[in-house]
Formats: sequence, C-alpha cells, structure tokens
Amino acid sequence: MATSKVLLSVLKGKCADLGLKCFSTSSVQHKKSYKLVVVGGGAGGCSTAAKFASKLGKGQVAVIEPSDTHYYQPLWTLVGGGLKSFSQSNRPMGSVLPRDCEWIKDRAVSFDPENCTVTTSNGQQVNYEYLVIAVGLQLNYHHIKGLPEAFEVDSSLCSNYSRQTVIKTFPALQAFKGGNAIFTFPNTPIKCAGAPQKIMYLAEHYFRKAGIRENTDVIYNTSLNVIFAVKKYADRLLEVIKNRNINVNYQRSLIEVRPDRKEAVFAKLNSDSGETETFHYDFMHVTPPMSAPDPLKAAKKLVNEAGFLDVNQYTLQHTMYPNIFGIGDCTNVPTSKTAAAAASQGFVLSHSLAAQMAGQPIHPGPSYDGYTSCPLITGYGKCIMAEFDFDAQPLETFPFDQGKERLSMYLVKKDLLPKIYWNLMLNGQWNGPKAYRKMMRLGFDTGSKHIPTTPSLKV
Ligand SMILES: Cc1cc2nc3c(=O)[nH]c(=O)nc-3n(C[C@H](O)[C@H](O)[C@H](O)COP(=O)(O)OP(=O)(O)OC[C@H]3O[C@@H](n4cnc5c(N)ncnc54)[C@H](O)[C@@H]3O)c2cc1C
Repeated sequence: MATSKVLLSVLKGKCADLGLKCFSTSSVQHKKSYKLVVVGGGAGGCSTAAKFASKLGKGQVAVIEPSDTHYYQPLWTLVGGGLKSFSQSNRPMGSVLPRDCEWIKDRAVSFDPENCTVTTSNGQQVNYEYLVIAVGLQLNYHHIKGLPEAFEVDSSLCSNYSRQTVIKTFPALQAFKGGNAIFTFPNTPIKCAGAPQKIMYLAEHYFRKAGIRENTDVIYNTSLNVIFAVKKYADRLLEVIKNRNINVNYQRSLIEVRPDRKEAVFAKLNSDSGETETFHYDFMHVTPPMSAPDPLKAAKKLVNEAGFLDVNQYTLQHTMYPNIFGIGDCTNVPTSKTAAAAASQGFVLSHSLAAQMAGQPIHPGPSYDGYTSCPLITGYGKCIMAEFDFDAQPLETFPFDQGKERLSMYLVKKDLLPKIYWNLMLNGQWNGPKAYRKMMRLGFDTGSKHIPTTPSLKV
C-alpha cells in the first residue's frame, strides 16, 4: 500500500512535468495504473514491451491485447504456397509476452490522451504515464460487396491476409484445373505491399509444376500504377512478369465478388466516369482494403486525416502528446508497413521513450531512416530481397545485388527470418540488420547518420 502511494506520487509528479492531467481525480483507486501501457501485442507491441518490462520491473508495464494467439503473419505467404503449416505461424500470446508485464486480455475501445487513460471493451480504465500504440491494421473485407460471405461458399476464393482465409489458399491452388487465376491489390495502404504478388509468383510456379500453366491466365489487378515502389526492384519484377507471361492491369480495384457467377468486378481508377470491368475467375486471391483499427481512427486527437497515429517519423513520438509513442502498421510513418520496419522502429522508439522517461532530450539520438524489407518470393526456391528507406532507395544488407532472384534469400525468408522473429525480435533483442549491414559492407552504411545514445531508465 505504502509502495503504491509512493509510486502514485512519483507518477503524479511526472505527469505534471508533462503538463498532463493524469491521476487528477479520486477515482484513481478504481483504475489500474502503469508506468508504461502498450496497446497491441503483435510484432511491434510485444517487442516494445519486452524492451521495457525487465528494465522497469514487475507491475510497471501492461500490454492490452485481446487475442489468445500471436501470429507471425509473414509466414502466411509460405502457408498459402504450401511451404509451411498454419500452426507454424502461431504461438499462445501468453508464451510470447514478456514475463514481467501484465497482460490485460481485452480490446482498447477508446483513448483519452488528456487524462492518460485507455478504456477497454469491458469498461476497465487503464491509466498510463507513457503509452505505446501498436494496434496494427484492420482488414476491411466488408468494403468489397459480397465479402467476407463469399469465402464461405466458394472454395476457389482465398486470402493470405487473415487467419480464417489463409488456410484456404493452398487447397484452392491444388484444386485449380486452369482458367483465370486473379490476384488483387486494393486501393488503400496495406501491410507488406509485396505479399499480393508473392503468392501470385508461387501460384504461377505451382501451375507450371502441375502441368496446367498452358490453360491458365495469370492476372494481377492492382490499384497502383506501378508494380513496386522502388525502381530497382520494380524493374526486376517487370522482367519476371514478362518472362512468366503474367498479365498486369494497373489501376483496377476490386469492388464486388459474385461467387454464384464466378465474377469479380473492378473499378477502373483511371476512368472519370466510374467505369467498371468484370472478370470471370476460376481462382482468386484477394488482398483486402485496410485501415487503422476503428478505435484508433475514432481518437481524433491522436490520428491524422487518414486515421493513422500521428507520430514524428524519425523519433516515433506523437506530434501532440510527448508521452505517447507509436510503432508499426498503425502509424503514419511513410514507409512500407512490415515487421522488418517495426523491428528497426523498435530500436529508435526504445531510445526516444527512454530519453523521455529520463527527462532527457530525444535529440540527438537514433533517428528512424524508414528501413523496411520485403522478401519478394518469385517462385519455389527464388527470392528478390528488397530492402529500402524513406526515399525508396535500396538499403541492402548483403554484399551482393539483392535485386537478383536468389535461392539464398529464399532460405533467409523461409528459415532464418522466422527464427529471428520468435527468438530475438519478440524478446526485444532484434533491431533490424543495420549492425550486420555495416559489418558486411565493411563499415559502409547509407542509413541514419545519428549516433545512438542510450539514456538510462528511471522509474
Ligand atoms: C500475408 C502477409 C505477409 C507478410 N509478409 C511480410 C514479410 O515478408 N516481411 C515483413 O517484415 N512483414 C510482412 N508482413 C507484415 C507484418 O506482419 C506486419 O507489418 C507486422 O505484423 C506489423 O506489426 P504491428 O505490431 O504493427 O501489427 P500486428 O503484428 O498486426 O499486431 C497488432 C496487434 O494489435 C492487436 N490489436 C488490434 N486492435 C486492438 C485494440 N483495439 N486493442 C488492443 N489490441 C489490439 C491485434 O490483436 C494484434 O495482436 C506480412 C503480413 C501479411 C498479412
């Protein structure tokens, strides 16, 4: 009791320093209070909690996360391609969250940054001194007419993007006997922008192995007007597409699925008159529209116009509230949304947040350079390992041209990265490949020039 009084007074003082009204009412006894609250226990949230839980000590860090299971989503491309089982992508949430943190197994439904409170779906109010928001992206299948219901009735429809539908992909590939195989890319920001075409290359290779490629049209209908954001990799992918006889239609956004007639309707984004185009499909892989999760979008003081958490792209600190930070897919950081990006952001975030906690300036400190990576699997045994920064410039780790299709990079994606994720990243020990890049390139590094400093943590 005495300890909690002392802690409360310390926390009260800290919030006053920040000019915030945390713990200002007597109802504090009915609320749970923590030094650090992390909302979301996915790739970014779990690794951030791990970085702070042991340093701050038991009872100081809470993770609000509703899911029983933690998913390593990058594996879902391989699950869809029949290379890994779905169960290899899952672990119980309790087994990956750090021992020293408290798991609040519920969903955050509202944020009150003025009073440093997050409310969960069962009405619990959780007070924080510092908050990290890591809620990922929401999948909006329901924005496409006919979905998600059509997944239930049509076994030739699949999607690697959700846990319910990824298990349909490989059976659908096996059952396909030729015709139109369509792969879509939606008209919103998405996680892993390479994944909609990775499964297409695997499928195309699979059709050749199955001897049905001759009777198959492989069609990539994308809302974008380029195949990939980084020119170096886009040029290589266009060669792959040409050599493999894949049909690409740009600026086509899926708006309706009619499973009874096996029809997919696409909006032509380059038409002023709202034109649509209808395709017959015999197999279709859908990448859904995505957005920040609704509770975050509703927190108008925290988000930008598009609904993403508004943070400084270099420090990951919120632009209005200095005690709030963000990591991963739910932020407005202008880079490709991947677990690889979250790992590199985690390094910067931990320094920024530790500096804020210690009352030290965040600058100079490490600055996020936009590092992100997309292992572009182009077939069974082949991968272009894209790594790049905010300026869409390659930021490659290995001392060879990663724009070439390579078996070695495929093995990195298939076997090495999952191990790094489960054994290092989720424990807070993997900050991206920057240190290795420097070693492999004999000290040459094109990334951030800031010199990392580690402010000591004070509770
Ligand atoms: C098919 C596919 C392929 C991919 N391939 C790659 C790849 O090759 N390389 C790569 O680096 N990345 C890849 N990714 C992307 C990668 O998985 C994500 O970018 C990464 O998981 C983002 O981490 P995050 O913490 O921001 O979000 P997530 O890991 O999605 O975690 C978000 C967490 O927040 C929780 N949550 C949501 N709403 C709330 C709420 N209201 N309250 C509390 N908790 C909430 C969720 O339950 C979830 O646990 C791929 C993703 C997919 C789907």
